[in-house]
Amino acid sequence: MERTLIILKPDAIQRGLSGEIITRFEKKGLKIIGMKMMRLDSALLKAHYSHLTDKPFYKGLEEFMKSSPVIAFALEGYECVNSVRIILGATNPREAEAGTIRGDMSIGTGRNLVHASDSTENGEKEVGRFFDDNELFSYDKSEYIHIYEDFERK
Ligand code: UDP
Ligand code: MG
Repeated sequence: MERTLIILKPDAIQRGLSGEIITRFEKKGLKIIGMKMMRLDSALLKAHYSHLTDKPFYKGLEEFMKSSPVIAFALEGYECVNSVRIILGATNPREAEAGTIRGDMSIGTGRNLVHASDSTENGEKEVGRFFDDNELFSYDKSEYIHIYEDFERK
């Protein structure tokens, strides 16, 4: 089972889209293993977006990400990092497929509603960066036999 970090960015909070976005991941069958509202600070954002700190848009991105609280959550599921990125859609929402969260609900690249980890390695790293061990929950989800075959549930 992989883990991936989701952040509902300030635009999702301000536009009242949190519920609809969470619902899409729940309907997929993914398990929420931790969730919290947080205000992000510069240090956390610099670590999280370390691949972008030298880009011209970074300052605006950091200011935006600090502009209101966000909701962070961790999802667990079989090969979930890739499937969550597919549900999320392309970084530029104007190129995101219809049916994806970004494709259906957003327009600006800097206002694309949701962060999701982009690799298995980053999924583990980012969940660890945003959540302490005691904020993550291990529990059985009763519907799993209707979501996964045995070999996918390992
Ligand atoms: N971003 C931006 N302008 C750009 C590229 C990225 O504002 O030209 C923002 C955008 O909000 C994006 C975030 O920086 O979601 C992180 O960029 P990344 O390339 O990691 O895209 P993502 O993984 O979010 O699809
Ligand atoms: Mg990214």
